[in-house]
Amino acid sequence: MKTFYGGYMKIGSEKVVSIDYTLKDSEGSILDSSEGKEPLSFIYGNGSIIRGLENELEGKEKGDSFSVSVEPKDGYGEYDESMMFEVGKEQFQNSAEIEKGMQVQAQNSEGQVQILTVMDVEEDKVILDANHPLAGKVLHFDVAVTEVREASKEELDHGHVH
Ligand code: ZN
Repeated sequence: MKTFYGGYMKIGSEKVVSIDYTLKDSEGSILDSSEGKEPLSFIYGNGSIIRGLENELEGKEKGDSFSVSVEPKDGYGEYDESMMFEVGKEQFQNSAEIEKGMQVQAQNSEGQVQILTVMDVEEDKVILDANHPLAGKVLHFDVAVTEVREASKEELDHGHVH
């Protein structure tokens, strides 16, 4: 007879993890939250979430909750002023609709989609910022683990949760 020593599956590589979370900045403003939405699900260990959160989740199990503050180096990186640049307005298909504060998508030379923030719009050019919107920020998370399960082979092959 097998004896089951209780406890839930622990978070580690190749596990699918679901969490409820609230993310606040250092002033206490809510930047993002899963409240009122489905929990966030991801394959642990494949870089789909920031390192500071991944580190803290290791070994946790369903029902665990915790708070963690993540420094920029383990979050979305330090803010890099050299990642601001300007492009001609004619580069945009819908240039009349471009406004300061908007986020736009662009493809870089490797074909990856990048999110850019519009910092300013001038007569014939647009100032863009390629920093992640959360770059340079200390991120304060409240996290509750709602599920931990094995990833299927298909999920591991695809690199995302089904
Ligand atoms: Zn898939």
